[in-house]
Amino acid sequence: MIGLVAGIVGQPSGPAGRRDVVIAGGGPAGLTAALYSARYRLSTVVLEGYQPGGQAALTDRIDNYPGVPGARGHELASLMRSQAVEAGAEIVPARAVRSVHSEEGFATETDSGTFESPVLVIATGAAPKKLGVPGEERLYGRGVSYCATCDAPFFRGRRVLVVGGGDSAVKEALHLAGYASSVTVVHRRDALRAEPVLASKLLKNPVCGVIWNSRLLEIRGGDGVESVLLETPGGPRELEMDGVFVYVGRRAETDPFRGLVELGDDGTVVTDGTVRTSREGVFAAGDVTGRELRQIITAAADGARAAAAAYDYLQHHPAAV
Ligand code: NAP
Repeated sequence: MIGLVAGIVGQPSGPAGRRDVVIAGGGPAGLTAALYSARYRLSTVVLEGYQPGGQAALTDRIDNYPGVPGARGHELASLMRSQAVEAGAEIVPARAVRSVHSEEGFATETDSGTFESPVLVIATGAAPKKLGVPGEERLYGRGVSYCATCDAPFFRGRRVLVVGGGDSAVKEALHLAGYASSVTVVHRRDALRAEPVLASKLLKNPVCGVIWNSRLLEIRGGDGVESVLLETPGGPRELEMDGVFVYVGRRAETDPFRGLVELGDDGTVVTDGTVRTSREGVFAAGDVTGRELRQIITAAADGARAAAAAYDYLQHHPAAV
């Protein structure tokens, strides 16, 4: 029975419609789930959203994914994508708007129609958090950015501020150091959260400096960023600046699944410690879960587990197909 919902794997019946497995999200978690699911001969569609490859595709250099040292994020994501397609998965440029449970399983409404399935994999990842300081929204795209990999070339020879002290802030500050004349990291504590190998690279980089125990209060400028106002231990300080990159964590993209599965206080999908959610037939993988270690490899591992769990579920619930 499995694999017959939308015809033979690799011969999709067109975008919207019914499949064995619908995967919301096209980052490493979703693409790995798709690869495994297609190899189980389940008809599989990935709703890719607006950011093909997810956050991984926006990461400049990845040094901790085994087997591909120094991988470029967009290249790794693109390889994952083509591998899933070669295995027989469909990838459609649709964004999940709402998923509901019905007698037939799940109906996921998107901006490209409704996809139905007995199994749903939530792998929608997370989006950058905003600081909410004056000037941040108004100057977004005019000096304020959440993606150094996308925007660093615009800051060649210019001064940039990076907010945050985690892996993302430090990695992207190092990437910006290849373009900017100065990279100032402002961190609210006296120690970086980033992994030590990254932190020491930052501290040794002559283009980069850190302002400790300080917060960004305001981003100032007319048509573009001109300066930033910081709260420092020595009092308020205004610094001339051309760009501000904000890396203060991420927020899980779970709005479409509110009411379908249990969410934690932080908005992540609650799982049983692996990939099972509070609702039978729905599995969650990658950064959309509350897992502590959020890496490409853990997202990919979740994706593989979600597909295996989906296969197992369909074997035991043949009536669902
Ligand atoms: P993160 O680890 O949560 O770090 C967020 C940083 O922003 C922290 O330093 C935090 O300060 C700071 N922060 C939070 N809210 C703030 C606010 N309102 N004002 C000022 N600063 C604020 O987030 P992330 O760096 O985006 O990483 C997310 C996950 O992805 C992590 O698990 C990370 O390991 C993983 N990741 C891994 C890599 C890699 O290459 N290994 C690359 C990117 C991301 P405090 O330190 O004081 O809390």
